[in-house]
Amino acid sequence: MKAEIIAVGTEILLGQVVNTNATYLSQELATLGFEVYYHTVVGDNVERLEEILRDADNRSQLVVLCGGLGPTDDDLTKDVVATHVGKKLILDPTAMDKIEQYIRHAGMPMSENNRRQALTIEGSILVENPNGLAVGSLVQNQNQNYLLLPGPPGELRPMFYEKALPLLKKMLPQPDQLYSRVMRFYGIGESLLVTELDELIRTQTNPTVAPYAKTNEVTLRITAKAVNEDIANHMLDHIEEKIMEKVGTYFYGYGDNNSLGNVVVQLLIQNNKTITSAESLTAGLFQSMLGDISGVSKIFKGGFVTYSKEAKQKLLNISPEILKEHGVVSAACAKEMSEHARNILDTDYSLSFTGVAGPEELEGHESGTVWISLACKGSETQTKLYHFNRDRSYIRQSAVMAGLDMVRRSILKC
Ligand code: ATP
Repeated sequence: MKAEIIAVGTEILLGQVVNTNATYLSQELATLGFEVYYHTVVGDNVERLEEILRDADNRSQLVVLCGGLGPTDDDLTKDVVATHVGKKLILDPTAMDKIEQYIRHAGMPMSENNRRQALTIEGSILVENPNGLAVGSLVQNQNQNYLLLPGPPGELRPMFYEKALPLLKKMLPQPDQLYSRVMRFYGIGESLLVTELDELIRTQTNPTVAPYAKTNEVTLRITAKAVNEDIANHMLDHIEEKIMEKVGTYFYGYGDNNSLGNVVVQLLIQNNKTITSAESLTAGLFQSMLGDISGVSKIFKGGFVTYSKEAKQKLLNISPEILKEHGVVSAACAKEMSEHARNILDTDYSLSFTGVAGPEELEGHESGTVWISLACKGSETQTKLYHFNRDRSYIRQSAVMAGLDMVRRSILKC
């Protein structure tokens, strides 16, 4: 926004007063982000001030006038600006009260000149003067803005800084800000996600789409640049819709600090469903993860860590025939583990984990072979085989994530 400063006062033209107001105002306006292209000094003369205002209208959106707001006949700024914008001068009651109080206090008679000082331009915004009687104002006329301030620097500076500056800030275009949303995905690797969203990631400039791979999951940070949150959210909703069309089946939640465990616990709480677990290779990792989430006691009664065959038999009554015929790394064992655990604790869901954490093989199954079974009250038990690679820790963590995903999908299906 372009701005210019007009100092009104013959004393400045005569060199009796240095135009320090222009220096101060220029610095402040530049700091705010206005581009100040002209300084003008004009004497107390109606025609010449009118001529300058006409020129200013052609080149600036903000015209700051200083001086000429006093009570005497040569103080003509308000009259000239009012005529220029086609508005009347009206008496401002607050300014009038202040002048009356001052006159009474000084024991002086009220003159017509004192009343003149309480006049403001119709429709303008009053800019209070804490240090004097002259009334400042901001006049807005179509796309032009005129800020009228008194000449004495001791009055002008606090008025500008404390009263006018907040009004001027609103005139400037607000700078864009960044608003981000994090989308979380499970069950799809980063490279596949990037392939699916290739065009979107390459062509999007606002919002931008940035993938980030984490252990066992991928996040997408979508970032919009906009003047406010509403506009940004609208832009983010739009891009999110496109993302969901492609990879929505893997999406599980929002947020930097969210987790699949948290999402599942919240879903269980919302649906008033309880869960237990029977864990072999994960040895309590699933239950420990549940314990990390506040509010989990509403849905988690307890569970079983049945690492050995003996524990499986003693704590879960897994039949010796199953263990003998199928072994512990089997669908049959996983299914019995989840169903028996659910029956014992009478929960809505029960998740079991049995498999080979490695590095050695077990029962002829290679490291990373994992059976996960989800028993659910009133519906058929689902049992799935997974193959995870890498080390023990990764295999056990991956099993927990896969189990959580089974629970999440099952709740959403119901
Ligand atoms: P007042 O009510 O004091 O008359 P005013 O708005 O009418 O206020 P002027 O009469 O134009 O102001 O100027 C009053 C005094 O303010 C001047 O004598 C001078 O000391 C100071 N002044 C005016 N203009 C400027 C300026 N551009 N830079 C610095 N000082 C100024």
